[in-house]
Amino acid sequence: MVLRDETSLPRQTPVTVLALGGNAILQRNQEGTFEEQYENVKSTAIQIATLVNDGFRIVIVHGNGPQIGATVIRHEMGRTKVPPLPLHACGAETQGFLGYIIQQSLQDELAKRGTSRAVVTVVTQVLVERNDPAFKHPSKPIGPFYTKDQRNVLLRDRSDLVIEEDSGRGYRRLVPSPDPKAVIEDKAIRVLVDDESVVIACGGGGIPVIRQGDQLRGVEAVIDKDLAAERLATSIHAESLVILTDVEGVYLNYGKPNQQLLSEINRDELEGYAKKGYFARGSMAPKVEAVIRFLRNGGKRAVIASLGDLGRAIKGSAGTQVTN
Ligand code: ADP
Ligand code: MG
Repeated sequence: MVLRDETSLPRQTPVTVLALGGNAILQRNQEGTFEEQYENVKSTAIQIATLVNDGFRIVIVHGNGPQIGATVIRHEMGRTKVPPLPLHACGAETQGFLGYIIQQSLQDELAKRGTSRAVVTVVTQVLVERNDPAFKHPSKPIGPFYTKDQRNVLLRDRSDLVIEEDSGRGYRRLVPSPDPKAVIEDKAIRVLVDDESVVIACGGGGIPVIRQGDQLRGVEAVIDKDLAAERLATSIHAESLVILTDVEGVYLNYGKPNQQLLSEINRDELEGYAKKGYFARGSMAPKVEAVIRFLRNGGKRAVIASLGDLGRAIKGSAGTQVTN
C-alpha cells in the first residue's frame, strides 16, 4: 500500500504543460556561459516554484536552439581529438544539461518554500516519420546568429550546411524539423505527474527517433519544442498548454506599424489567420499550430505569452488566450 503524504494535493489538480522559450535560458545579447544560463533559469524557477506552491501541477518543456547549436560546434571543433556525436545524441546531451539546471533551480526554490514535491527530468524520445518531407527542407534555426559575411565564410568550408535569415535577427543554421507524432515516454511521465512530481520532459522538442521494425533509432533533426509540447500535453491529458516566449503574445502584422496583439481568440479564428500566413515559419507559426492542435485534440485552454507574465498568463489574464 502506498501511503500518501499528508501535505500532498488532491489528484485532480489541473495539469499544465509549460513550454519555455529560448529566452528562459539564454537571452539574445548573452554569450552562453554556464553562469548566464544558470541565472536565467533561476529567475524562471522562482516563477514556476510559486505556481507549484499554489497547487499547479506543472510539466516543463524547454527549447534548446542555442544550446544544441553550441554542442554541435563543440563536437565539430573537437573532432581531431574525439569523434563527434550525431545531432540526436547532441539533443540528448542538451536535455541532460538543461534538465539538470532547471531541476536543481526548482528544487532549491521549492525547498525555500518548504514544499516537498519531487522534481525530475525525463530523457525523452519523440517519434517522427522517416519519410517526413521536412528531412528534405531544413527549417529549424539552431545555434548562434551570424552576419551575412560570417555566413559566407562558413558556407565556403561546409557546403552541406544550410544557413538562412531568421526573423530579421541575423543568419542561423537550419536543420530538418520533422513533425512530432508521439512521445515515447508519455506513460512514465503521466505516472510521475499523477504522483505530484514536477516533471521536465521533451527538452529541445525531444530526441527525434523513427521506428525500424520494433526498434527505435535516432535521426538527424531537431523537433520544434512547441509542437512536441502539444504531443505531450495531449497524451497526458493536460488541461492547459502555456507557451512562454519573448513577446507579449501573438500579433497580427507583427513588426509593422499596424501590429495588433490578439488577447482572446477562439481556435477557428486563430486557424483562419494561420492559414492566411500571418505567422512566421520557425518561430510563431509552430506555437500557433501547437495551440490549434492541442485544442482540437481535447485540450481546454492554451496560452502564448511572455515569460515575465507567467503567473498572469496561467491564470488567464495575460498573453494570447485561446479556447475552443
Ligand atoms: P522561442 O524560443 O520562445 O520559441 P522564437 O524565436 O521561436 O522563440 O519565437 C518567438 C519570436 O517569434 C518572437 O521573438 C518574434 O520575433 C517572432 N514572431 C514572428 N511572428 C510573430 C507574430 N505574428 N507575433 C509575435 N511574434 C512573432
Ligand atoms: Mg521557437
